[in-house]
Amino acid sequence: MNMNKKIVMILKILLAVIVLLTGAVWAFMTYHPVWGGTPDEGSMARIRASKAYNATLGKFENQEPTQLLTTDEKPSITTWITRLMAADEGKNPSEPLPSAAFDKNVLKDGEMVWFGHSTVLFKLGGLNVITDPVFHNASPIPYIGISPFKTEHSYSVESLPELDIVLLSHDHYDHLDYRAIQELDSKTKHFIVPLGVKAHLQRWGVADDKITEMDWDEQTKIGTLAITLVPARHFSGRTLNIKDPTLWGGYIIQSPELKYYYSADSGYGKHYRETIAKHAPFDFVMIENGAYDKKWALIHETPEEALQALKDIGATKVLPIHWGKFDMANHVWTDPINRLMKDVASQPEISVATPKIGQIFHTQGDLPAEQWWQGVR
Ligand SMILES: [Zn+2]
Repeated sequence: MNMNKKIVMILKILLAVIVLLTGAVWAFMTYHPVWGGTPDEGSMARIRASKAYNATLGKFENQEPTQLLTTDEKPSITTWITRLMAADEGKNPSEPLPSAAFDKNVLKDGEMVWFGHSTVLFKLGGLNVITDPVFHNASPIPYIGISPFKTEHSYSVESLPELDIVLLSHDHYDHLDYRAIQELDSKTKHFIVPLGVKAHLQRWGVADDKITEMDWDEQTKIGTLAITLVPARHFSGRTLNIKDPTLWGGYIIQSPELKYYYSADSGYGKHYRETIAKHAPFDFVMIENGAYDKKWALIHETPEEALQALKDIGATKVLPIHWGKFDMANHVWTDPINRLMKDVASQPEISVATPKIGQIFHTQGDLPAEQWWQGVR
């Protein structure tokens, strides 16, 4: 073969590889179930009837005007990827986080365990309930992207007891984990989701009759528990091009003895005063406190805003969530908890639980107070 023929051959092979790779990426982006499903007619009818749905724009809306980006800077995918690949030293932990071994057989009523970020397991009214169970990467691409910080002990769906209820707050990847949902299905009796999110679970094989889909301010009863979906100030979507196709929200979970509030992801807003406060008093509150930035100031709250929200709803016992697991913003990983602890020091009526990941505590007992994150390199 002469030189020219060799070059032509190499070019042909290169072209074939590029075509195949492009095809594979296109097929993944188009057909992979991780992106979720499309609501069926039954769900669509309920979506269209929701007060939170703008039928003209074909999307859900917050109770008050909420722009996604609060900056004139254009979002840059390269800046985001660079930040993800090479975070500044000290921004994330470089050693495994101190954690506790979790025994799934010992959880008692009124007890709770935090698995980092917004994954919280608790027993209430005799039922095992978990919020936003995420045990893999918070990213659509398996093994690539936003991975959980390392912990001394490892946690997975296998670590969990049989679950009566899985509460899902919205369809973002750091809350709705495609692999975890599939792993959880056989050990879960009920999934409770905001409008539109049912379609994702259906596509992933969860049976219709196990899923309860709710609008804001709707309540469902399971066993002794009454569960209400309440507004949050956020957004949704599992693809870049489709905005707010499904609803988002927090939950109020009430047993005959205790009432909990789970804020889910939320910017600070009037919903705390105008809606959530009406359900007070709460025996325990899980509040979002992390992944904030002035560039997206309306959809995630700062620790100072979280504290204001806690005051708005008269919270007394609190677990800060949405921190300690994923690098999703520009702040150092301990910034949320340090700022909240500093501010809360002047609020004697509010007690903050700071359990290690995996540590069981009683929501009505002495709350864990060790500042375990101090000194983690
Ligand atoms: Zn979110």
